[in-house]
Amino acid sequence: MPVGVNRTWVKYIEKGAFPNTRRLFSVMRCNHCDDAPCVEICPVTALFRRADGIVDFDNRRCIGCKACMQACPYDALYVDPAKHTAAKCNYCAHRIDVGLEPACVVVCPTQAIISGDLDDPNSRISQIKSRTQVSARKVEKGTMPALFYIDGDVDSLDPLQTETQDAYLWSQQNRGVGQHAPAAPDHVHPLDRLGELLSLGETDERRRLDRQKLLDTVLSDQSARRAYDAPQKGITWGWQVTSYLWTKGISAGVLLLPLLAQALGWSTWSLGSWLAVMLTSLVFLALTGVMLVADLEQPKRFLYVLLRPQWRSWLVKGAYIITAFSGAIFLHTAIAWLAPQSRLEWMSQWLLIGLSAMTAMYTAFLFAQARGRDFWQSPVLPIQMLAHSIMLGAATLTLAAPFSTAAWNQFVIWSLILATLTHLSCDWIELNLTHSTRAAKQAAEMMTRGRFRWLFWGGNVVVGGVLPILLCLTGWAWVLPLAGLMIFVGVYVSQHLLVYVPQQLPLS
Ligand code: SF4
Repeated sequence: MPVGVNRTWVKYIEKGAFPNTRRLFSVMRCNHCDDAPCVEICPVTALFRRADGIVDFDNRRCIGCKACMQACPYDALYVDPAKHTAAKCNYCAHRIDVGLEPACVVVCPTQAIISGDLDDPNSRISQIKSRTQVSARKVEKGTMPALFYIDGDVDSLDPLQTETQDAYLWSQQNRGVGQHAPAAPDHVHPLDRLGELLSLGETDERRRLDRQKLLDTVLSDQSARRAYDAPQKGITWGWQVTSYLWTKGISAGVLLLPLLAQALGWSTWSLGSWLAVMLTSLVFLALTGVMLVADLEQPKRFLYVLLRPQWRSWLVKGAYIITAFSGAIFLHTAIAWLAPQSRLEWMSQWLLIGLSAMTAMYTAFLFAQARGRDFWQSPVLPIQMLAHSIMLGAATLTLAAPFSTAAWNQFVIWSLILATLTHLSCDWIELNLTHSTRAAKQAAEMMTRGRFRWLFWGGNVVVGGVLPILLCLTGWAWVLPLAGLMIFVGVYVSQHLLVYVPQQLPLS
């Protein structure tokens, strides 16, 4: 194993007040889930479940999209720093195939790890499990984990019961040698730095208070502390994913609005105007592709998504939707040129409207497959992503407002206002109504009251919502581009928060 990454590790927690404290140890690793979300989201079948139940991995297929790391609720996967592919415990499948036990079972000096076939009622592990009370990690995720803990301690198995602390001897976590480290300085998003700056030096004060709280806890409190652990993976989907959402939103939105206006008879477009929006859409679609490939650990394998698809993954469905969307743009352009006002044009127009909307929304379904991130399971996310796209499309069209007709500007203004109100309503619903889990609630609190509050209220609500709406209500064509620029910033901030904040919470 390369230094700094772990297929299996031992987490220490400490409970009780001095001097009556005790340490508890839990072995963490892949659970070889019966319903494994990592297998479901993997776009290229690099992760697969064998007939004997082992969730195995083929790194020759992996494109390094890191979707499995977002889908696994147990932090079991990492990026191999040497091979640049995802990896995890595979139950030593190579040893099982020749009749041996996993290496961790053999090396453990106290038989603390027991392996075997849970489907065989006569196996030692089945018999121990049938007469012993066992627990598992995050059973509420519905993944049906196949790893059980005897006397499992809830504070140890639930990552949100204890915070990562650096006040213990050996508890400071470093990145390891050569690790693909999302926490590296170059992975820190500039917007994060801006948020820290706006916090006006609160960070040091908060660290001091954290240490004081820990000291108080050790001396008097009974709550659990995390004393030693493997490094957290941190942000595995970074600015490339935020930027991909943003460029994709512009590409879909800038076509959706003119197409809808024309289809509903509110406006007609000359071929020249259509070519201008079409080219804008294609440029941003190309940038979307660049961002998607740039985020891969194995960018040369990006075509595997289309050529070796695993159809349950929304990464695959999304790749095909984007491909169909770009094809439909060329098709509609050709038909609008060769057979204007025809039934064929009407059909290609509605096809393109449908594909634009799907392009805007499909990432919400991909995020929903990422079962490790509770905040991404929001039912309003598809609507919010569509609203983002309409906002970005309208913002792009406002740049031409001083040269457009008053009737068209009214259409753009009201599209922008309605989409922005929808986006803010979705924020309100996500942050107030849909918290079924503690992790989702914590993410919401980090946004509205925690370290990201400046970006949320300042960038997302004021710059990206209230001010552009007020500017639009003036109806002055020359201020509309300013409203549009604010929307560009606000939507980027909103998407940054959506991508980054849920990844701040530990999964193991
Ligand atoms: Fe292992 Fe996580 Fe996949 Fe479950 S979801 S099989 S724990 S990697």
